[in-house]
Amino acid sequence: MSGTQANVRRERLVSRDPLTGAELGDYPVMSAVEVRGLVAAARRAQADWSQRPLHERVQAMQRLRRLVADRADGIARAIRAETGKVLGDGWFEVVIVCEGLAFIARHASSVLLARRAEPAFFAHRRARVAYEPYGVIGIITPWNYPFVIAMGAVTAALTAGNGAVLKPSEQTPGIGALIVELVAEATGHEDLVQLATGDGSTGAALVEAGVDKVAFTGSTSSGKKVMETAAKVPIPVVLELGGKDAMIVCADADLERAARGAVWGAFHGCGQVCMAVERVYAVDAIYDDFVGAVVRQARRVSAGDEPEAMVGSLIAEFQRDKVEAHVRDAREKGARALLGGRPLEGPGYFYAPTVLTDVDHEMAVMREETFGPVLPIMRVADEREAVQLANDTAFGLDASVWTSDRGRGRHIARQLKVGAVLVNDHLINYAFPDLPFGGIGASGFGRVHGLEGLREFVRPKAWVEDRFRLSREIYWFEEGGSGIEMSRDVLTLRHGQGPLRRLRAGLRLLRRLTR
Ligand code: NDP
Repeated sequence: MSGTQANVRRERLVSRDPLTGAELGDYPVMSAVEVRGLVAAARRAQADWSQRPLHERVQAMQRLRRLVADRADGIARAIRAETGKVLGDGWFEVVIVCEGLAFIARHASSVLLARRAEPAFFAHRRARVAYEPYGVIGIITPWNYPFVIAMGAVTAALTAGNGAVLKPSEQTPGIGALIVELVAEATGHEDLVQLATGDGSTGAALVEAGVDKVAFTGSTSSGKKVMETAAKVPIPVVLELGGKDAMIVCADADLERAARGAVWGAFHGCGQVCMAVERVYAVDAIYDDFVGAVVRQARRVSAGDEPEAMVGSLIAEFQRDKVEAHVRDAREKGARALLGGRPLEGPGYFYAPTVLTDVDHEMAVMREETFGPVLPIMRVADEREAVQLANDTAFGLDASVWTSDRGRGRHIARQLKVGAVLVNDHLINYAFPDLPFGGIGASGFGRVHGLEGLREFVRPKAWVEDRFRLSREIYWFEEGGSGIEMSRDVLTLRHGQGPLRRLRAGLRLLRRLTR
């Protein structure tokens, strides 16, 4: 057996419906050698794709938008089947993808076309900045929003002229396969986006498989490993990591609305959302009224697999175990579950929407990402304490302030150390295609979406060309010596005091250059 063959493992990965356990598909767990092959294939296709003018690439993205919109129901059903989320969640993913593609069509040229640059004192030169694709992007994605997260990175990378290798979560390989099919149909390029199926080892292999950049979305712990491996190559990374979003409820908030927002923000997607409301700080003056309103609203949230349910299943046993562990830890330390606090009977991995009070920062549920339908509400003396506790975290994805006073909202928002702030809303910023999305601290760095998200997939290349030629060049070895006189005249002309001094310096320079 050759060395190459010896490295190829032939393990399989079975994708299952979390609600029924039914087998949905069977995929290879790809080895490092296979992943390298995918990168090489994507690179060959990218060589042609990157030569297409931008408007052609944008047209392909427009075709992709129509395809996705036309097949929305099928895509949403595929998402539901592989994740156990409710169908509406899948539709929401499709809407965000189509909005993102429409945004790309309108704005790609403003980011990706070359721009003129100031020539400073080199007036005889023309300067510009060209934006070139990296080559092949390794895109590693999680299971919670398997379509929108992967599509966001894939479409931005492709529009910029890159190819890609997509490594979806082992929980959702079928959605990854669907994306690759859709892209191939819209672009006419079979190989431009390659699918790397497998587990974490496949993702790790992709980082060192010859890709030119990695766009990783997932947990903070995996993100750190990705960065460590990428540093050895070295290649740049975008890291979109976990969150522990805070919601601050001020005394003047519209409490009924804030309660509805908290319940949606915490339970949407069964809480498996990186910018879910994971902790609430409500000021003492309205705490009891707010908690009462939240419990009333949360009772309306139906969890189950029937079509009208608002909240679906957690992805798998490991996720339900984590939610249970956080709730147990909180209870052991004195928290009270006013609602829920237990798994639901039956097939799937359902967990009852849960409202916790009497919580504090000694509890995991207030400090670590729970990623489940749990809404802990902490009483704070005032807004100052709320801000201090909201910032008392390693994470920094989103945060929200709820108040009737716009000035107060802005004042508090400015103090929150996060990638995005919202006043009287939560997590919806992800659906604004012109807003960059990303975090600070343990929530990662780099941005997806918006102009900033497109820019992640190009390298700026500086260009200098002739405008006209001088007989002697500024700063060449034309004069002998180290060029101090030249620098002195340039400085005086451009930055010196007094018009006469500047004029004299200018004349000296002109003489020198035209001698
Ligand atoms: P993981 O970090 O477990 O996995 C994310 C992806 O990385 C998966 O494809 C996984 O493969 C792969 N992977 C695992 N280990 C490695 C490794 N060592 N090197 C390279 N790739 C690896 O996250 P989850 O899938 O559990 O997703 C949930 C997390 O994602 C949460 O923390 C959530 O907050 C975060 N997230 C962040 C978002 C953001 O935009 N900031 C958006 C959505 C989620 P496999 O699954 O096959 O093991």
